[in-house]
Amino acid sequence: MSETQRLSHAYILAGPEEARRQRSLTLAKTMLCEGPADRRPCGLCRSCRKCARGVHPDLQLVTRRTDEKGKLKREIYVDQIRELVSSAWILPNDGERKVYIVADAGTMNPAAQNAFLKLLEEPPAFVSLLLECDSADQLLETVRSRCVLEHVRGEETEPSAEARERAERFLDLAAAEARVSMLSFTNGLGDLSGQELTELAQAARGLLADMLCGRLPDRKMPRTRLMALSRLMDKTEEYLRFNVSPKHVLGMLSVEAFEKE
Ligand SMILES: [Zn+2]
Repeated sequence: MSETQRLSHAYILAGPEEARRQRSLTLAKTMLCEGPADRRPCGLCRSCRKCARGVHPDLQLVTRRTDEKGKLKREIYVDQIRELVSSAWILPNDGERKVYIVADAGTMNPAAQNAFLKLLEEPPAFVSLLLECDSADQLLETVRSRCVLEHVRGEETEPSAEARERAERFLDLAAAEARVSMLSFTNGLGDLSGQELTELAQAARGLLADMLCGRLPDRKMPRTRLMALSRLMDKTEEYLRFNVSPKHVLGMLSVEAFEKE
């Protein structure tokens, strides 16, 4: 299976505007790149150069319209999404794929989001959809459930070496279905603060995002499992934000790490 085929067809990139745009452009370039599979985006091929210049015919950006005064409208309207949906079925111009970036996808009104559902669920094999938003909460649950959610941070802070190590270990044990070892691993983390546990979850989600787009080996886990683990990391972070005790969260992790959906 090539790297490109392993990429998911629909992503939600949630975070500050600048950061999420950077991330969606990198993903789009990776998807469209014609360079060697292990070096995408290569930055050198015809496709990468067209993306960088903003003239790739198979990279489409959908944004809010502007009014007569040049001010951005408040919403993305249903007719814009209908247009996207019908153009999605037209074959790519240049290469094998086409990518749509929906800027401010969080401003799609409910009708627009509903018009999107069918395409999000079953896009043509050559189509990828990247939805940028401040927070995934702006999107309907039916939209969220059809996409891989990736949180993008403003100042990209690298996780600490410890957090990364713990996250690696957690994923190793989850991949190996090592339930007993997982229990002793999570028990051993009983003294971690909420902050340290949050960092573990963030590091794990970063690793999972890289596994999902083929930058890291997937530890032989299918995509559905990687997505389930990624959602578990979201849940972990959310619980900790709402002051659920670290011990309780660790208990949840030791069980739900093995859930397949
Ligand atoms: Zn390239």
